[in-house]
Amino acid sequence: MTTSPFTPAWPEGVTARYLTLAGATVDVRGSGDRTAYECTGCPFGSGPSWHHTVAHESAQAHAEKCRALPRPA
Ligand SMILES: [Zn+2]
Repeated sequence: MTTSPFTPAWPEGVTARYLTLAGATVDVRGSGDRTAYECTGCPFGSGPSWHHTVAHESAQAHAEKCRALPRPA
């Protein structure tokens, strides 16, 4: 079985992850009006001051176009 972003335990506090084209993830942390998002492949990210719907939309939109490779662990 190959590893994927879905199989390892998620980092503490991560409530959602969006998979990018290159295999990195955009991690969403928090909820409500205190939600943050952060790409694991590039410096993209913001928060934790977003409403969760905005954070999820931003994370998903970024995941669809980001081509940065995941940073080595
Ligand atoms: Zn990115």
